[in-house]
Amino acid sequence: MTIAAIIDVLEKWAPPSLQEDYDNSGFQVGNSAAEAKAALVCVDCNEAVVLEAEREGCNLIICHHPVIFKGLKRLVGRTAVERTIELALRKNIAITPYTNLDNVIDGVNGEIARRLGLKPISVLDPRTDRLRKLAVFVPEAQAEALRTALFEAGAGQIGAYDHCSFNLVGSGTFRAGEGADPFVGMVGERHTESEVRVEVVYAIEREVAILAAMNAAHPYEEVAYDLLVLANAHPGIGSGLLGELSGSMTEHAFLDHVKAVLGQPHLRHSALTGKTVRKVAVCGGSGSFLLGKARAAGAEAFVTADVKYHQFQEPEGALLLVDAGHWQTEQYTMDLIRDRLVGNIPTFAVRLSGLNTDPIHYR
Ligand SMILES: [Zn+2]
Repeated sequence: MTIAAIIDVLEKWAPPSLQEDYDNSGFQVGNSAAEAKAALVCVDCNEAVVLEAEREGCNLIICHHPVIFKGLKRLVGRTAVERTIELALRKNIAITPYTNLDNVIDGVNGEIARRLGLKPISVLDPRTDRLRKLAVFVPEAQAEALRTALFEAGAGQIGAYDHCSFNLVGSGTFRAGEGADPFVGMVGERHTESEVRVEVVYAIEREVAILAAMNAAHPYEEVAYDLLVLANAHPGIGSGLLGELSGSMTEHAFLDHVKAVLGQPHLRHSALTGKTVRKVAVCGGSGSFLLGKARAAGAEAFVTADVKYHQFQEPEGALLLVDAGHWQTEQYTMDLIRDRLVGNIPTFAVRLSGLNTDPIHYR
């Protein structure tokens, strides 16, 4: 199996288009056509991790954070990034970062929520640029076959429902020109056909597959259809997650719970509010930009990382803001990636890095 095929499994889960504008996720170092022997999964890739991959017999490193983040102008061993890439190339080890998981409900935040014992409620800040609608016009007799093809390609999913469509019967007209081979009607004569306007919503990453399925299942030479951009929020894609503990906890008990789950002995947090905690917002990594959303959603606590001094003043007693560490809140991404790969390709060996690459040290 090639490295490209391994990356494909991951990108079907969280496509590269989900990464933030400033990010630089996706295959970065090596030859993706090479055979993948085994993969090492880590949060950050550095020289020590490349050597670890070599020791473990892995020629692919899947890291959560991009190794090349800003523009790289030379490879002369001056910086840790340059040396990491040079070493990986010398050892024939490919590197592919994967931050796309920050933005899917079953990604980084879903895993934090699961480990904290939260029942997920919703994505905290859902993306409003991920859904589209297809309206396609098809003869009544072929409408059912077309709908089925669209559903099988992933169209028509709304929350816990699938096979969702709207169907309106009307009449379509057309005149086939020279060289056409019309499914119904005669060349040179205007034809009126009873057609159904089939409407389905879909996530944009399924668009290519859905249009291919539509064209394959549709009887006409020229398929008439509209693609509509929607402003609807995508329920499964976006930043942060809102969930609920199975019961209320005191703030002290909640902080101890976070420490134990994340293996983080030193939490930073805003002033205690005096309320109990049940509804909790989470965002692994630098998520403090979501504080307003967490507050508006009625969360009693918001667990994230990289919180600045003045941001600890902002909750004003409305919620408990907890900085649990960037590495600590994203460490379980490694398990997620391994489980997904092993679930899809049981014969492929995936190892977790045993190195703690947290650049922040505590004592
Ligand atoms: Zn991160």
